[in-house]
Amino acid sequence: MIFVVQRHRARRLHYDFRLELGGVLVSWAVPKGPTLDPGVRRAAYRVDDHELSYGSFEGVLPAGRYGAGDVIVWDTGPWHLASGALEDGELHFDLDGDKLRGRFVLVHTRTSPAGKEEWLLLHKRDDHAVAGWNAEDHPRSVLTGRTNDEVAAGA
Ligand code: MN
Repeated sequence: MIFVVQRHRARRLHYDFRLELGGVLVSWAVPKGPTLDPGVRRAAYRVDDHELSYGSFEGVLPAGRYGAGDVIVWDTGPWHLASGALEDGELHFDLDGDKLRGRFVLVHTRTSPAGKEEWLLLHKRDDHAVAGWNAEDHPRSVLTGRTNDEVAAGA
């Protein structure tokens, strides 16, 4: 199974964190992006599942449609479940990407009155943990080496 993280500059910048599960990409929007810093928890909002084929999408979503803005494949690679289940609202899993490695946890913390699922994404303390690691310091696509600006410019 693969995971994909897309850096998506829509109306608001966010990272779409996606895990292949049950034949789809189960997805969360992470405004500040994933981190290897085990001292930091990131808010992650569950969003619609996407088709597996969307995991390699890099380009510009046209103005006027939902999510309009530029998208890069910020990281991808295999993942595997260590424990937990989506239905239980807690997943412990390992990522083996170019940027993201080691043990991560996603925990469902609450569901808003409007039905929006709020989760937390964090990195465990392990050999891959890096204090102070910030996604924004690693801005290039792992597929093409491009930044969002270069994708937006059609480079
Ligand atoms: Mn998005």
